Amino acid sequence: MRTTGNAQSCVIDPMAQPCVPVAVTTGEKRQNFPVHRIYCVGRNYAEHAREMGASDKEPPFFFSKPADAVNTGRSMPYPPMTENLHHEVELVVALGTGGRNVSTEDALTLVYGYAVGVDLTRRDLQAAAKEKGRPWTTAKGFDHSAPISAILPASRCAHPESAAITLAVNGELRQQADIRDMIWSVPEIIAELSRYFELMPGDLIFTGTPSGVSKLQRGDRIACEVSGIGSLVFELAGS
Ligand code: MN
Repeated sequence: MRTTGNAQSCVIDPMAQPCVPVAVTTGEKRQNFPVHRIYCVGRNYAEHAREMGASDKEPPFFFSKPADAVNTGRSMPYPPMTENLHHEVELVVALGTGGRNVSTEDALTLVYGYAVGVDLTRRDLQAAAKEKGRPWTTAKGFDHSAPISAILPASRCAHPESAAITLAVNGELRQQADIRDMIWSVPEIIAELSRYFELMPGDLIFTGTPSGVSKLQRGDRIACEVSGIGSLVFELAGS
């Protein structure tokens, strides 16, 4: 049983619902997608697994970020407690329906739409956590660690199996791949995740990054895109 309440019975003000805008075309009303949870897939591209020093024979795995880590603004603060912040551009899946033990055949029926996002990572803290076998929370789940574009409904873009995914820093291309190179496809990710968690409407899934991750500096301008899905540009605040 989930613990629920209403605003009147809470001893402090409930948090504002984190939301991501839905992409609109001229004349359409602006609407938001309310975020329930953010799941992330680790090492879902073989080239990236290799660049991180891991074997690409190990299957991908999951971690998470808090729902209010989403940031849809043009400016992100450079986070504290790191001197090695990395970008990881990723296709993001937004679920409109939930489910448990979903089959790969049914998985895409859960999808509301798609976006492009960046799994910002404090790589120095992640390296220390890996070495000591500690959790990745401070490396991955910090404030504003999930910059994300508007969500494009699948009714407009269908379910992409192949699309260019790119990220440039100050105009220099750093990551360039195709989403068809993911080790686990979107249906496989949804099916596997639904064995561990009851998926809910509002869940976002960051599907993993291709190779080319690198260090970001204060003042950098990051531009990324999944072709046919969306693009995102933001700056890292200077101080
Ligand atoms: Mn990632």
